[in-house]
Amino acid sequence: MPGRPGASSNLPMLTIAIDAGHGGEDPGAHGEAGTLEKEVTLAVAQRVRDRVNAEPNLRGVLIRDGDYFIPLGGRTAKARQLHADLFVSIHADAFISKDARGSSVFALSERGATSVAARWLANRENQADQIGGVNLNARDPYLAQTLFDLSQTATIADSLRLARSVLRELGGLNPLHRGEVEQAGFAVLKAPDIPSILVETAFISNPYEEKRLADPAYQERLADTIVRGIKHYLQSRPAQARPKLSQRDETP
Ligand SMILES: [Zn+2]
Repeated sequence: MPGRPGASSNLPMLTIAIDAGHGGEDPGAHGEAGTLEKEVTLAVAQRVRDRVNAEPNLRGVLIRDGDYFIPLGGRTAKARQLHADLFVSIHADAFISKDARGSSVFALSERGATSVAARWLANRENQADQIGGVNLNARDPYLAQTLFDLSQTATIADSLRLARSVLRELGGLNPLHRGEVEQAGFAVLKAPDIPSILVETAFISNPYEEKRLADPAYQERLADTIVRGIKHYLQSRPAQARPKLSQRDETP
C-alpha cells in the first residue's frame, strides 16, 4: 500500500475505520440538556481520526464525516471498500434510569455471527471474490463455508482482544458500566473479516455524563483513550497472524 510521508517503510500501513453512530434523520439517543448522540459520536470520531492520523503507520478514515444517515450494512460495506484493518463504531448509551452510567465496549457474539455467513455467501453484490483469504467461488460450497466460519471465528477473537484493550483504557477515564467486554449481534459489527468493536462512550441519559460528552476537552480525552487501546491491541497482536484480504493491492 502507498505510504504517507514519514511512515516507517518496514511496517505496513494499517487503516482504522471510525464509524460515528447514527446521523441525519437518525439522531440516536439524547440527553435532558438536549445533547444529541449523533453530534457527540461525530465529534469524538473526528478526534479519533485525527489522533490515529498522528501515528506514523496508521491511517484513520471516517465512515461518515457529516450529518447524514448511512444504513448499518452500508457502514461495514464502506469499511471494506476502504480496506479497513479495524472498525470502531462510536456511540453514547441511554437508559430510562438517569443513574445508569459508565462506558461499555461490545464485540460481535458467535450467535450474532451465525446468520452472517449464509448471507455473505449468498449475496454477491457487496462482496469481493475473496473474504479473509477464502475463495467464495470455490467449487465446493461446504469447504467455502467452513473456511468462512474459520475466518469469522478468528475475526471475533481479534475483536474481543481489541475490545478488551480499549475497555481497559476507558476504565482509567470513566467508570465501566460492566467490568468486561460484552457481546451482541449488532449489525454494524458483522464484517466477517475486519475486527470490529462498538464503544458506548458514556450514558448521554445521565446528566453528569451528558455534560462531559458535550465537552470538547472530554471528547479529546475519550479519543486519546480509545486510540491508546487500539495501539496496545496492535502492539500485542502477533505479526501477520491472520491472512490479509487477497484482493488488496499490496504493491507500492
Ligand atoms: Zn447509538
